[in-house]
Amino acid sequence: ELASRMAERAVDVVKYFMKQGQMMKPGDVIDADTAELVAVEFGHTVKRVSESDVEEGLFNIQDKPEDMRPRPPVVTIMGHVDHGKTSLLDAIRKANVVAGEAGGITQHIGAYQVEQDGQIITFIDTPGHEAFTAMRARGAQATDIAVLVVAADDSVMPQTVESINHAKAANVPIIVAINKIDKPEANPQKVRTELLQHEVFVESMGGEVLDVEVSAVKGTNLDKLLEAILLQAEILELKANPNRTAEGVVIEAKLDRGRGPVATVLVQAGTLKPGDIIVAGNEWGRVRALVNERGEHLKAAPPSTPVEILGLQGTPQAGDRFAVVGNEAKAREISEYRQRKARERAVARQAGSRGSLEQMMSQLQSSGVKEFPLIVKGDVQGSIEAIVNAIEKLGTEEVRARIVHSGAGAITESDVSLAETSNAAIIGFNVRANKQARTAAEQAGIEIRYYNIIYDLVDDIKAAMSGLLSPER
Ligand code: GDP
Repeated sequence: ELASRMAERAVDVVKYFMKQGQMMKPGDVIDADTAELVAVEFGHTVKRVSESDVEEGLFNIQDKPEDMRPRPPVVTIMGHVDHGKTSLLDAIRKANVVAGEAGGITQHIGAYQVEQDGQIITFIDTPGHEAFTAMRARGAQATDIAVLVVAADDSVMPQTVESINHAKAANVPIIVAINKIDKPEANPQKVRTELLQHEVFVESMGGEVLDVEVSAVKGTNLDKLLEAILLQAEILELKANPNRTAEGVVIEAKLDRGRGPVATVLVQAGTLKPGDIIVAGNEWGRVRALVNERGEHLKAAPPSTPVEILGLQGTPQAGDRFAVVGNEAKAREISEYRQRKARERAVARQAGSRGSLEQMMSQLQSSGVKEFPLIVKGDVQGSIEAIVNAIEKLGTEEVRARIVHSGAGAITESDVSLAETSNAAIIGFNVRANKQARTAAEQAGIEIRYYNIIYDLVDDIKAAMSGLLSPER
């Protein structure tokens, strides 16, 4: 990389190192000071470029309050498998297309908009919290409101609880959709009561969480659900400045055979237009066309609009942020810089810089935080409760553990992404992580600890906590 940026042969750079007594091969990583020495040695002038230089001006436009305008809410549907998330998304899509549309929604682009009472609502068209947390893990928050689907013929289930915890961790308000009320065995009241145990208090239970009884299959009360979303949105006073360069988040991206890299983005501020030059994650491109879920080509995409963009040079990743930049040279520079950074991080990860409970503790210690987040998974509810109680008892005024999530079953990718977003370690009691979760944890540097004796577990946590208690150590 250094050789190519100096327009020298890699072999000459390797030879130089050899003369210095250092064995290097292409792909090895050197630090900035060494790179500077080498560059000077080869007769080049060095200009140090820092992240802030390259990325200057991106994502830090200060909007004036008077430039802010209301924008539509962006909604994600979450809940347990088979409780009807997909059916609900389909039913809403079919029932409410934006007025004046004959064709309706023709293609799946990862998000869509509907209209209710003349107001627009944007739905993220990927059910479940996986997409939600994958995005959060990359530092992006696309969702304003989470609709929690619970089947009225079933109960609050593990993924219901996960969804609640994900929404809470992200500070996103929940609206409960009690689904399948067409079923004879439906018992919505039972759902409301069960939700109390997870600190979701619906209005009829004296709380503030809106709830709507719906049937996705029969299309019952979909308008009520949309009205509840608009009501919640009003409380949130969602605003953005449409009159500035656009920025937002990538919802999905793929390589299309005919069209090249295609990314669906959600515009979160500003207005995106064809011809704009954007950087999205490690990629850049000039927007050739903006296409919505009805296959229409748009002249402009204001805040909260999901659109497919054509014209990127490569495929970004879901959750990547995008922003419009001034010119092609700048876009290319940022994208090359980020790609180089990504390679460096990959190399560093391979070198085995995995986080550990101890490392996490010392990090917390240096940042002055006296609370550490944990995710606890176990084989049976009984032992999980025992563990959570024991851990919570360990807390003192100065330092305590915070259980971000607990539940029965194997450690999954979803646990890992929640751990990533909340900086937590994961504890498995008599359960293991599945393969995807292990891979994800390795990549993210998340520590997973396994135990089969509660005493050992509590002892470890206690030791870690006492580390936090003695900053002078
Ligand atoms: P998801 O896994 O949460 O996305 O759930 P699906 O949308 O795939 O629905 C799971 C099953 O429940 C499917 O067989 C649906 O037909 C059924 N289902 C979903 N909503 C309703 C409903 O309102 N009433 C009834 N009776 N069945 C429903």
